This record gives sequence, C-alpha cells and structure tokens, in this order.
Amino acid sequence: PEDIRVYEFAEACGKSPADVIKVLFSLGMMVTKNDFLKQDELEILGEEFGISVTVKDALEDVNYEENYDEEIDTSSFVIRPPVVTIMGHVDHGKTSLLDKIRSSKVAAGEAGGITQHISSYTVIKNGQKITFVDTPGHEAFSSMRTRGANVTDIIIIVVAADDGVKTQTEEVISHAKASGCPIIVAMNKMDKETANPDMVKAQMAEKNLTPVDWGGDIEFIPVSARTGDGIEDLLENILIQSELLELKADPTAKAKATVIESSLEKGRGPVANIIVQNGTLRVGDNIVCDTTFGRVKAITNDMGEIVKELGLSETGTVLGLNEVPTTGSSLIAMDSEKEVRDIATTRAEHARAKELSKSTKVSLEEMSGLI
Ligand code: GDP
Ligand code: MG
Repeated sequence: PEDIRVYEFAEACGKSPADVIKVLFSLGMMVTKNDFLKQDELEILGEEFGISVTVKDALEDVNYEENYDEEIDTSSFVIRPPVVTIMGHVDHGKTSLLDKIRSSKVAAGEAGGITQHISSYTVIKNGQKITFVDTPGHEAFSSMRTRGANVTDIIIIVVAADDGVKTQTEEVISHAKASGCPIIVAMNKMDKETANPDMVKAQMAEKNLTPVDWGGDIEFIPVSARTGDGIEDLLENILIQSELLELKADPTAKAKATVIESSLEKGRGPVANIIVQNGTLRVGDNIVCDTTFGRVKAITNDMGEIVKELGLSETGTVLGLNEVPTTGSSLIAMDSEKEVRDIATTRAEHARAKELSKSTKVSLEEMSGLI
C-alpha cells in the first residue's frame, strides 16, 4: 500500500488528483498529490468512488498453504483433522445425523426441532479426529465464506431419501459448488419404506452431482440417522476424502482460528465459538479478533468441559475478548498484549474513519441541496 501516490491513484481510477485530495481533506487527512496513500485512505477512497480497492492486510493474509515454502518452517507441519460442514434442506436430518455420529441427543432438545445456531463437534473415528459443523441454513455458511473464512474442508449434503431434492437442497448445492470443497451426499432416512435412493441420485445427477456408481465422481452414502445404518461408511468416506486433501498445519504455531458463532453471555462476557485452523490456542494467549482483543481467560471444548488448549481443527468457546467479535472473523494469537491492542485499535480507527466518510458524504449532499 505505501507505493501508490495520490496522482497515480487518481489516474488509475480516472479522477483528477484534486478530487482525491478533496475527499481526504473532508476527513481531515491532509495530503498533496505526491504523497503516498495509506491503507485506510485507499479504502475510504474506494468507498467514496464506488470502486473496489484491494488492500492486502498482512495479518489476515497469512496463507499457510501458499507461503510455507519460503517463510514457514514446514518441519513441524502435521496432518490436521478435516472440518466437515453438514448442509441440506430443513428436516432432512442434519442434526439427527450429527447426533447419531456423536451419540448425543441434541435434536430432541432443540426449540421446535430447528437448529438455532451453528454447532460444532469433534468426533473420533478409528483414532482420527473429524470436526463437524451443523448449520441452521446456508446463510450462516455463506456469511462465513463471504468474509473470507474458508473453515470447511468437506461438505456433506444431506438429502432425505423419501423426500428428494428440495429448494434448499438446490441452494445448498450451488453454495457447495462455489466453495470448491469436495462434496459427499448422505441419503438419509433410508429406514423409511418410502425411501428412494435412485430418485435422489437421478435428481442430484441432474444438478451435475453424478454418483460414482453412475460414472461420476460424487460418493452417495445411504444412511439412517434413526438406526445408525451407513454411518460407519459415511465416516470412512470422510477420512478417505480428507487423506486426499492432505490437510496440513503447524501445531507449534501461534493460533489462528475462525469465529463461527459469538454472543454476550451473562457473567461470562463476550463468548466466541471457534475452530482452530493453525497452531494451538492456550489459556493466557494474547488474542486479536477483528476490532476486539484480549487475553484468553478460559476455554471450553465442544462438550462444555474446561480445557487448557484447543489444537488443530478443534472447536470450542473462548472467553477473554473485550467485545463480541463478528462471525467469520479470524482470531489470531500474538506475542504481546501491545501487539493485539495496537492491531485492534488500528482496525477500530479504520472502521470509524469509514463510518465518518459515509456520514460526511451524506452531510455534503445535504448541504449542496441547501445551496
Ligand atoms: P434438520 O432440520 O435437517 O436438522 O433435521 P432434524 O435432524 O431436526 O430431523 C428432522 C426430523 O426427521 C426429525 O423428526 C427426525 O426425527 C427425523 N429424522 C431424521 N433422520 C431420520 C432418519 O434417518 N429416519 C427417520 N425415520 N427419521 C429421521
Ligand atoms: Mg437441524
């Protein structure tokens, strides 16, 4: 960002340098046409002129997969567990399936049987961990994706075999395809007499998700969340997919996690439900998340038990942030309290400048209406 000057920016977007300077002046930023533009100035200008300015945020942009060749010591990389998101039409059995996998009884205790939040659990199959994310709908999933949080490695689309492809199944299919993640289809409710797996396969093949046994590349696994039939098969398929993906990360690194849910809880303060994507998060770590920061006061795992740390692809809740973070934001551990405070503060100032830029625009428009 430091290498673009005011006049160069103006030229690039077809404005005069005076236009650019005016915008920044109105926000109290004094620049001349030869000055270099700072990151926040670039973003404000982008908003003002309705153009998209891509500013690389060094913190958000640490891409372990792409950069580790040169910058990160790969010697401590290990295979990490896959993060699997379960999606599908309402009532097709997503929560029941996850319950059966985890042998718990969450669906029965839900208000109206509808999942209110994203929930995540880590289960162990053949000594290997798998983290599952249950979503209330694809909105939650896509809101995470649009914020750049690609937490999911594998997507399971649940289709009730007695009901077939429905509107939400279709929506989920397009989101799943857009994500580029491998897809596994779980044909649920196979215990029902009216279950018709061939109908499901035909309907899905029409959407270009062709079953392996029909010459395509998508695994269709018949399951029953009620009886548990087929669940072993489903888990084995997940592990095979996961192996192909060669998911790797560094458990010795400072933690980087994604917030999948957050709330303000009485007596606990801001609570963030996270999935760890790299490193290990420990009690006492200094963390920054969006414009909020703090020190990890307590961690609970997916069973609600108090733990000292969360490892690769593990999920749990974190206490200690000074404000409720946004869903989909990255939570990053750093060496010192100063670092996390500085970053959060800079981001907050930046966000305020953006707000100010909006309100200034409005008042200028109002004024010009008066004159
Ligand atoms: P979700 O909205 O996709 O999370 O669906 P739920 O897990 O809440 O299930 C919706 C309904 O379908 C509930 O009444 C479940 O008991 C029922 N159900 C889920 N899986 C099965 C199954 O494999 N067989 C049968 N017979 N019913 C199921
Ligand atoms: Mg549900």
